[in-house]
Amino acid sequence: MYFREITHHSPNFAAAPAHERLGVCFHHSVLDFDAALARLTDPASEVSYHCLIAPDGTRATLVADKHIAWHAGVSTFLGRTRCNDFLLGVAFAGDTHAAPLTTEQIASALEWLAPRWAAHGWTPACMTDHRSIAPGRKDDLAPTEWSRLLAAIVGKFVNG
Ligand SMILES: [Zn+2]
Repeated sequence: MYFREITHHSPNFAAAPAHERLGVCFHHSVLDFDAALARLTDPASEVSYHCLIAPDGTRATLVADKHIAWHAGVSTFLGRTRCNDFLLGVAFAGDTHAAPLTTEQIASALEWLAPRWAAHGWTPACMTDHRSIAPGRKDDLAPTEWSRLLAAIVGKFVNG
């Protein structure tokens, strides 16, 4: 299955230093797909993700992997701060506290991950969500939805 992939360049990124690509932080955008795209391409927002995934699985590429998107803010993962430098940011359109991820969103995330997983030597330990790296400050994803996503990742890339 292949989902539609579109490009909406965001001005909200840093071209240097080069992104380390040590793993991925997953988010939800709260806003719906179109409203999120508008915000993420507005320089005034100073926010971006590498990729935004619509409920139907359509993926919008906003920032190239080699560049630093502005998604994590104050955060710590694997003992390091400045997570934007080393975690790619992928967001699901919508609010996972209000509605679960669609099966298409999860399948599309796996499709996005597939070529990168082997290329970067990732393991499930390289995957996280915003809630986990900014506890008390951020609540995305809902814990049940993060568990569903992580189980799908393990199912495809570890047990698949
Ligand atoms: Zn977030």
